[in-house]
Amino acid sequence: MRSVTGRKNVSDMCADLLQDESNLSGAWCEAAAWPENTDEAREYIRECSRTGMQLTVSGGLTGISGGALPEGGSVISASALKDIRLQGNGNIAAGAGVTIEELNSFVSTNTDGFYPPDPTEESASVGGTIATDASGADSFLYGSTRKWVEGLKIVLPFGKLLSIKRGMHMFENRTCTHPVLGTLHLPPLRREQPPKNAAGYYMREGMDLIDLFIGSEGTLGFITEAELKLAPEPQYVIDLAVFPENAGSFWELYDSLLHAEEPLRIRALEMMDDRCMDFLRSHPGELPLPPVNAVFCLLLRAEADSDEHLEEILVTLDDILVASNSSPETAWGGFEPSERKRIKDFRHALPEAVNHCISESRRKCPSIHKFGSDGAVGLSRFEEYYARVRSILEERSLPFVIFGHAGDGHIHANAMPENPRQMLLADSAMREIAASAVEMGGTVSAEHGLGKLKLDYLKLMYSEDEIKGMEVIRRVIDPDFLFG
Ligand SMILES: Cc1cc2nc3c(=O)[nH]c(=O)nc-3n(C[C@H](O)[C@H](O)[C@H](O)COP(=O)(O)OP(=O)(O)OC[C@H]3O[C@@H](n4cnc5c(N)ncnc54)[C@H](O)[C@@H]3O)c2cc1C
Repeated sequence: MRSVTGRKNVSDMCADLLQDESNLSGAWCEAAAWPENTDEAREYIRECSRTGMQLTVSGGLTGISGGALPEGGSVISASALKDIRLQGNGNIAAGAGVTIEELNSFVSTNTDGFYPPDPTEESASVGGTIATDASGADSFLYGSTRKWVEGLKIVLPFGKLLSIKRGMHMFENRTCTHPVLGTLHLPPLRREQPPKNAAGYYMREGMDLIDLFIGSEGTLGFITEAELKLAPEPQYVIDLAVFPENAGSFWELYDSLLHAEEPLRIRALEMMDDRCMDFLRSHPGELPLPPVNAVFCLLLRAEADSDEHLEEILVTLDDILVASNSSPETAWGGFEPSERKRIKDFRHALPEAVNHCISESRRKCPSIHKFGSDGAVGLSRFEEYYARVRSILEERSLPFVIFGHAGDGHIHANAMPENPRQMLLADSAMREIAASAVEMGGTVSAEHGLGKLKLDYLKLMYSEDEIKGMEVIRRVIDPDFLFG
């Protein structure tokens, strides 16, 4: 097993461990290790427990909330855990360090199915996506990572190994007893947790114990291996970008698609607002610009099982577009690979343009970074939430765009401050946006997790007693708070 000790050695020889996609600076640690199998991980963690060395777990480092960045102690990286194999039951056993790209490539070569979680950044690791319960565009139909995890191997403090399968250990009356963990109690909650939620531990009456570890952001142990389920690959996938010419048509179209039934099987329902359209026009890249009259953009992905099903879907989509005054003629996309690629590139063009704009501002003021919200609300309040987010950013006269997973009531508002004064305004805007999501019954984080950057938002969503209840669970599993 490769390992490095000494603060300077780590920063000289493996500086990549000290940076992720969160823009957080100042990460440091005294040691780092890259176990190649579960036994090596157990040995290293046992030694850390013995010496009291705190542990931060690191995966593909694509996280946006800084959860993988150490503040001292040691980093244990999953990146050398690369075993991957097809099991007899058709599931995949994958080491935590296998990337989503590697997993997809293995699955397409060796099976007829596909792995639905698609958190955009394909260098994300299996362990990291489980630890954050990552979602993505297709979670509208396929749910988040949680739904696809059947088993986990997790190394706990003192090198104890927890091997856990879905369906084996359930909470009853908010209590679950496990031979390795002892007895865990879920705290009573003031309200139901929102359906798409990555803030705090997953806590539901009657839940499966495995779900406590999914989304626990590296605070309950080191995931070394996962058993993952696959979905059958549909015959056709259709990607469309529709460009309504006013906000009313957009919301009408959104509503029709949200409630559409078979034959229409919608996999993803995403949006870009008018600020995104204007921003793309003023930052042109290699792609064609959105149509001149486009005010909003609705990106949808649907799937079909046969030629007849495809035909039915295309006719139904045409009818829905016409009924909501959105022209099928100006829509882009289709089911051919080149058409689907065009939509994928268009989707990526926005965050790329935002990042480019931030880099430009950073040249004048090095401390500048992007601020992104990750809140979600129930679908019945989504339009209201969108309007609230927008007015919070407009009140502060910040440059911003709003896009995201409209089908899940989940948007990312990106504020692009240009100077230190706007940095402070953006920070307060993000907090107000998070508080608004909670006030509307939603979550402060639907997919990125709280990490170090947004840990403070936990208090916006949970009471002191609920947070204490989470700490008690953590203390039972990790008495010295070795992890995270
Ligand atoms: C351009 C871009 C687009 C993105 N789009 C999406 C999106 O659509 N949906 C989405 O959900 N996310 C998205 N993300 C965020 C990110 O890709 C996900 O959070 C991803 O799941 C992180 O995986 P990782 O392997 O990079 O984890 P890391 O960043 O390394 O770590 C993330 C967290 O997981 C913990 N962790 C990592 N590995 C393990 C392990 N083996 N055991 C226990 N804990 C572990 C870490 O301690 C940390 O708390 C995006 C990021 C970028 C940069």
